[in-house]
Parts: sequence; structure tokens; C-alpha cells
Amino acid sequence: MFGRNPGLNLITDKERVRRLAALPHVRSGRLERLGQARVAIVGLGGLGNASAQYLAVQGVGHLTLIDGDVVDEANLGRQVLFSPEMVGRPKVDAARETLKRLQPRLSVSAVPEFLTADNLSDLLAGHDVVVDGLDQAAPRLWINRWARRQGVPVVFAGAIGYEGQVFPSYPDGPCFACLWGEAAGADENCVTSGILGPLVGIVGALQAAEVIKFLIGAPIQPGTLWLVDLLSSRWRTVTVHSHPQCPVCQPAKEAEHATSL
Ligand SMILES: [Zn+2]
Repeated sequence: MFGRNPGLNLITDKERVRRLAALPHVRSGRLERLGQARVAIVGLGGLGNASAQYLAVQGVGHLTLIDGDVVDEANLGRQVLFSPEMVGRPKVDAARETLKRLQPRLSVSAVPEFLTADNLSDLLAGHDVVVDGLDQAAPRLWINRWARRQGVPVVFAGAIGYEGQVFPSYPDGPCFACLWGEAAGADENCVTSGILGPLVGIVGALQAAEVIKFLIGAPIQPGTLWLVDLLSSRWRTVTVHSHPQCPVCQPAKEAEHATSL
């Protein structure tokens, strides 16, 4: 019944998905798709911890966790998959252990490597959605280019201090470069700037929500940039449009158009 992953079983996991199945806009057959879905989470900081947790318990079939770091004591205030006895272990192994406890049927690949321009294609191939849990600018640009070529959605996010952003990028909508250009901006540094622990929970959970909405067939709004500021208690969205000169997503459209003439 479930080809690619053991993931969700709609008989044994009936109670787990009952509230999800009761939602409007869940398209027929999409819970099966959720159970078969392969989602890559790049970076297991606060964002990756939060998104992985919700994706696992909600019934996504397979998670690939990509991070070359080890658990540090300084992570424990916001990275909820890790406990004190896990300090010093590879983050991907520690996270897999917790996630399997939360959802034993979850299939997890733990990749103890940092994403690079060289390994990106191999590590991300075969996934239905990519979740950005990075705090570095350059790899986001690599992921964006790869995802556009492959037609894979990416849910980008960032969080620093009291402020967070989420930008789901779908193949037919604006891409990361339409929003920020192709110049790698400054990396987020929560070591010096600080970060409010629950912020990454909010932002990571929002990323998971966007992934699940996409997989169950609920309506999505391409080009939505979520902005949250917990200090001023402001929460808003901005509509981003495809940039006509975007070097990443517009050349493909122009070529498509030319071929169809
Ligand atoms: Zn673009």
C-alpha cells in the first residue's frame, strides 16, 4: 500500500491522523501521499528541530536530516530534540533517536555532513520538499538553484533575535533569488545577536505547516513571505512577485515560452 516508505500506515496510525483527516481541504489520497513523502531538512538548529518534530508526528513518511555538527550544551535552550546526555553526539543521530521515539514508523536518514555545492545534488535528490534550517546565506542560494532546476518546493526560513521569516518557494512561484537576489547576504549569528528560544519553535512549526499543506493538497499561496517580530508583537505577510530579471527562475520561463511559440 505504501510503496516508497514504511512511514504512515492509515490503519495503525488512524488515530494519529484523525484530526488532520478531519480538516477541510485535505484532498482524497493525500494522506497516503503524506505517508510516502520524502522531506529533506538541511540544518538541525532550532528551526530544523522544530520542523522535524512536527513533520514526524504528523505522519510524513521519510525525513533526511543533514547536518555535520554535534550537539552542544548551548543548543539545549531551543533545540528541543536534544537532551543533556546527547551533548557531543552527532546532531543527526540524536535527532533520529528522538524522532523515532515520537513516531516509530518514521523512516529517517541521518547524514552527518554539511551541505556543500559539491554534495548538494546527491543529498537532495529524490526528495519531494526541502526545508531550510540553515543560518548561512550561501547554501540557500545553492538550494534555490537546484530546486528550481528540479521543480522541488523549498520552505526557506530565518530567525535571529526576536524576528523570524518564512518563505515557501514553489516551482511556479517566485524563488529565493526573486526576493533576495543572488548575492549571499550576512549569515545569521545567534551567538552574538542572541535568539529567543520559542521563536525558532514558531518559525520551524510554520515551515512544517507549509510542507504539510503542500503535501495534503490544501490551498497554498505562492509568493507569501511571513514576517514575525515577537518584540513588537507584529505578525504579517508580504506578497512577493517573480522578479522579471531573476537569474534563477526567469531564464527557464523564457526558454519555455520560446519553445512553445
Ligand atoms: Zn526567481
